[in-house]
Amino acid sequence: MDCLFCKIVNKEMPSEMVYEDENFVAFKDIRPKAPLHFLVVPKKHIHSVDHIEVEDKSLMGELILAVQRIAREKNLKGYKLQINVGREGGQEIDHLHLHLLSYATGS
Ligand code: AMP
Ligand code: ZN
Repeated sequence: MDCLFCKIVNKEMPSEMVYEDENFVAFKDIRPKAPLHFLVVPKKHIHSVDHIEVEDKSLMGELILAVQRIAREKNLKGYKLQINVGREGGQEIDHLHLHLLSYATGS
């Protein structure tokens, strides 16, 4: 499968990775729209929120907990989360990802 984010997950493509655990990676967005702009990406290839299955339920909860961990590690004072779904929803890369944006970094 020719998926850019699968390649980043598998380290076949370079990225500025800021976080990795069993299920997720996070890396810097190449076109940041805020002083801090990370993409939090499940290692499992899921096309979009519209393609989540019931079996992915706990993984999606883990995604938010991974965000919380990253925010604490980076000492963020506040942040915004965004998930684009489908072309009409602004999704360019067809591998589910969550935008973590912060204007108030603590360090
Ligand atoms: P979306 O529009 O929600 O699909 O978001 C895709 C995001 O991926 C955009 O904000 C792009 O700037 C970002 N992006 C595209 N290619 C790369 C890459 N190679 N490394 C990091 N971020 C990327
Ligand atoms: Zn993928």
